[in-house]
Amino acid sequence: MNYRHRFHAGGPADCLKHAVLAVVLERLKAKPAPFSIVDTHAGLGRYDLLSEAAQKTGEYKRGIARLLAAADLPAFFAPYLAAVRSLNGEPERGEPRPLRWYPGSPLLARLLMRPKDRLVLIELHPEDVRLLKREFADQTNVVVHHADGYLGLKAFLPPPVRRGVVLIDPPFERANEFAKLASGIKRAYRRWPQGTYLVWYPIKAKAPIPAFHRALVESGIRRLFLAEIRIRASHDPNRLQGSGLLLINPPYRLDQELAVALRWLAETLGEDKSAGAACRWLVPE
Ligand code: SAM
Repeated sequence: MNYRHRFHAGGPADCLKHAVLAVVLERLKAKPAPFSIVDTHAGLGRYDLLSEAAQKTGEYKRGIARLLAAADLPAFFAPYLAAVRSLNGEPERGEPRPLRWYPGSPLLARLLMRPKDRLVLIELHPEDVRLLKREFADQTNVVVHHADGYLGLKAFLPPPVRRGVVLIDPPFERANEFAKLASGIKRAYRRWPQGTYLVWYPIKAKAPIPAFHRALVESGIRRLFLAEIRIRASHDPNRLQGSGLLLINPPYRLDQELAVALRWLAETLGEDKSAGAACRWLVPE
């Protein structure tokens, strides 16, 4: 397990997945009934962007820092940015505090959920599990499991409260991660077909993305939506060109909102003329 998210926190990939996660949580809150969030590859609760790791890559400067500085921010990104700002402290004399702390998906969820909602965090790296447990020690509606996220899809789905969202955000360290992910999603969907799923994946040269999509389309999953952004061209199979999200059972009208919001995101984070967004249903209603 070499992947450490602290090098990538707040980068362009986080901007995509965290902005969409925040909007999905806002939609769930539109109804008073409680909901569950299951985060299968949780990482840390919070990231220090002044740390050596974050400074070494500077990814957040090409991600969240650009969004915070944008003058023309679409409303879609407001819940996400409000959560990031709240973590960095109250504004002083009307001025937002400088960016230092960045919420990983567990803390973003915790900042946006209500006391009656429930958050299940699964993480395999012992050091991250220790820090997660410390971060959420006093939260009775948050549970942290030291476990394999894919096994977690079996063990923790469906959740007792059968309304909510599953975030699947693997590190893609292994060559077979796309295949493992496809079978994990199929298994999870069989157990809980009503859940909303957000699944993140990297776009790189030679990544087996068409086969991954095909496996899911042929599986019988309904309401499967694709949202991708590209930020740069690269032939290097280890370098990110962009990232994608698959959404199963997205909230009503999110498809239309994503198409507009992701175009803006790709323009804002894009580094060359290949930048752009693609949003479409892989399997419709
Ligand atoms: N979801 C986090 C966020 O949005 O802030 C970032 C997660 S990061 C991309 C992937 C995480 O998965 C890493 O923290 C890594 O330690 C963890 N991990 C790797 N293999 C795992 C497995 N089999 N099960 C659960 N977690 C795993």
